[in-house]
Amino acid sequence: MSSPSLEDIVSLCKRRGFLYQGSEIYGGLAGTWDYGPLGVQLKRNMTELWWQHFVEERGDIYGIDSAILMNQKVWQASGHVATFTDPLVECKNCQSRFRADKIDMHHCPTCGQADPFDQPRQFNLMFKTHVGPVEDDSAVTYLRPETAQGMFVNFKNVVDSLYPDLPFGLAQIGRSFRNEISPRDFIFRSREFEIMELEYFVSPGEWEKYFELWRQQSWSWFDLLGLAKTKIKEVEVQETDRAHYSQRTIDFYYDFPSLGFDEIGGLAYRSDFDLKNHQKSSGKNLQYQPKDKADPFIPHVIEPTYGVGRNLMAVLADAYSEDEVSGEKRIYLKLPFDLAPVKVAVSPLLKNKPALVTRAREIYNDLKKSFGAVVWDDNGNIGKRYRRQDEIGTPYCVTIDFETVEGDGSVTLRSRDSTEQRRFQPDGLANQIH
Ligand SMILES: [Zn+2]
Repeated sequence: MSSPSLEDIVSLCKRRGFLYQGSEIYGGLAGTWDYGPLGVQLKRNMTELWWQHFVEERGDIYGIDSAILMNQKVWQASGHVATFTDPLVECKNCQSRFRADKIDMHHCPTCGQADPFDQPRQFNLMFKTHVGPVEDDSAVTYLRPETAQGMFVNFKNVVDSLYPDLPFGLAQIGRSFRNEISPRDFIFRSREFEIMELEYFVSPGEWEKYFELWRQQSWSWFDLLGLAKTKIKEVEVQETDRAHYSQRTIDFYYDFPSLGFDEIGGLAYRSDFDLKNHQKSSGKNLQYQPKDKADPFIPHVIEPTYGVGRNLMAVLADAYSEDEVSGEKRIYLKLPFDLAPVKVAVSPLLKNKPALVTRAREIYNDLKKSFGAVVWDDNGNIGKRYRRQDEIGTPYCVTIDFETVEGDGSVTLRSRDSTEQRRFQPDGLANQIH
């Protein structure tokens, strides 16, 4: 099959209720996207899988959920107020604005004017706002541009509450906001997005060992998402390109349709940069006191980060499949079972036969108790139902027909990927679904 384009995926997402343009009926708001009924379920399944894998299944990671609005001193100490910027240029001819490092500076991409730009100025990407009714400098705050600082400022709280052994980590999933100069490529670069992130605190001498551990863990995460290993590569970020806090960073790139390789995650060694700065700015002692009474020290940090939208876009791209069934082109999403927004669709073969409908309702209710995300689908003929469920990635369809109500009681279980149909007794169905 030919590989899908980004447009194929965007179109399926809108058609089937995964993602819509933000504020669409008003012409949209650039860089914002709304998750529809299937998209929100897929996203929840993904973030729950992440939480299960990185928090619940381990003994050394503690979850937190910090406020999006934080004291402006947090962003001064972290360096974001001074340096979280992109170079901005404006065309003298048409006034279009661009990120200087993303375009050919000799021509305006909008109007084509030659040499239309002055020197770039640094544009801070944080959304600025005020807390309370007075708009003076002391009331300034920002929508957080990352979730990490919420974990650093709670380091002492968690140590005081739980006194964990080192190494240990804090995990958070949450919204972040960046006033991107040029949001682009669907949910790849948007102005409001979600991050799944860990700060793993280690002894300074052990950072390389744990950097390697989290490199491996990142690969197991991408494996859980069902992403093909051959479509992912690691990129060592050179010193000149690294964020201001990092002494070593690896980015993980996925080979997106139409876009090529681009970032879906990162692994940064942030040293003691953040805790040290917060200790200095807040005047609070953020050292860790080892339990063996050795000298206290400020731990160093390894930070694995995964963008929810970007991971979800990679999942959709990897799952998007086409084949031919009975001479017709079929589109289906080969989503891993854990991620699929709907696990099973239940149908009576004909919706105007009360005996079929009654029996189908009973089976639907039973399956819903076991799997939750089970839908009832009696629209159109059975072929159309299968196509619709294939397109949203439903792994199984169960059909109740005359054999069920007049024959041996068995139902048809149809698999999404193989389209194979087999008959089972209803009470044996749950074992076949996984
Ligand atoms: Zn122009």
